[in-house]
Amino acid sequence: PIEPWHIGGPVVKGFGRGSKVLGIPTANLSTKGYSAPLSEHPSGVYFGWAGLSSQGLYKMVMSIGWNPYFNNTEKTIEPWLLHEFDGDFYGEELRLVIVGYIRPQANFSSLESLIAKIHEDRRIAERALDIPMYSQYRDDPYLKGSS
Ligand code: ADP
Ligand code: MG
Repeated sequence: PIEPWHIGGPVVKGFGRGSKVLGIPTANLSTKGYSAPLSEHPSGVYFGWAGLSSQGLYKMVMSIGWNPYFNNTEKTIEPWLLHEFDGDFYGEELRLVIVGYIRPQANFSSLESLIAKIHEDRRIAERALDIPMYSQYRDDPYLKGSS
């Protein structure tokens, strides 16, 4: 188990690959101001809770890292909110409580195997977040933007 940690900020534009190439939208957060927590936590796939200003509270599964499949040179924070939204929410305040770690960053030989792995990560996150030791954090006041 990991010590839960928080990150948040406005949803920024990424490369637009999540939805278009993978069919998996990720609401990118700026890494500015998060160099300490990012260097303290290994690259990989995490899960937790997401508070999206005005809209609500959602489960999320998140990649932190360089996306080796795409050869990124900068570390990105990319949560996939496990909810069907009607549209985009760029610029909205997104707050995350990260409560668990699934796996290290990995490279994949095909897009299909990458997509399959992300869906497996999603199922793990969905189930884990129903367990009291992880579900309790949905009440974290940080998610509501009041602290
Ligand atoms: P980008 O590279 O700009 O992050 P993506 O293809 O990853 O683009 O799509 C992410 C955007 O899609 C988010 O910024 C958000 O506005 C929107 N979006 C819609 N549904 C979701 C969702 N379930 N999870 C995350 N982002 C979503
Ligand atoms: Mg994205």
